[in-house]
Amino acid sequence: MKASYEQSGLLIVVSGPSGVGKGTVCNYLRGVMPDLAYSISATTRTPRVGEEHGVNYFFQTKDEFQEMIQKDELIEWAEYVGNYYGTPRRYVEETLAAGKDVLLEIEVQGAMQVKKHFPQGLFIFLAPPSLEDLRERIVGRGTETQESLTNRLAAASEELAQLSEYDYVVVNDQVEKASERIRAILTAEHCKTHRFWMSEE
Ligand code: 5GP
Repeated sequence: MKASYEQSGLLIVVSGPSGVGKGTVCNYLRGVMPDLAYSISATTRTPRVGEEHGVNYFFQTKDEFQEMIQKDELIEWAEYVGNYYGTPRRYVEETLAAGKDVLLEIEVQGAMQVKKHFPQGLFIFLAPPSLEDLRERIVGRGTETQESLTNRLAAASEELAQLSEYDYVVVNDQVEKASERIRAILTAEHCKTHRFWMSEE
């Protein structure tokens, strides 16, 4: 008898309010888990200084984005603080089929759409230690206008209200600690009984 775990990839959704540190935590995870595939989103937002097309996002016009929606090329999409963001379908489906875990870093409306289509996904909510801490992080980043800051904080309160829809919540008190908690969750998820079988060999 031989013990085996299922080889198919996990769809991992890391979500939570803007400024909570999703990007930093996901970068840490990608650094320590080189086999983890990362889905690059499409957006109509203008690039920030240092951001590159095809690395941080696929930066698109509204018309290009609409075309992707019409052709059903996005798993999910959402309008967030005046811009569109979405997850290209092809990369995610092909990578999962190839047996690799795929990480999506998206906001809450999009995460809830993914949950409808991929209920077997792993949904992790990254929470700030407090709303004040979140505000300080967004201000400290220095990338947002006053209007965008106000809108992002308003969105954050709504996003926190959806926390119970997720499988896990991880407080981002410290990047390394939060990332290691997520890594432990992924390890546990791969060991779930429904991913395991014994074969005659
Ligand atoms: P930012 O403008 O700060 O890069 O992103 C704004 C928000 O959009 C963040 O919460 C980010 O996680 C989220 N986001 C990034 N890519 C996607 C995506 O493909 N779909 C959705 N729904 N949200 C995304």
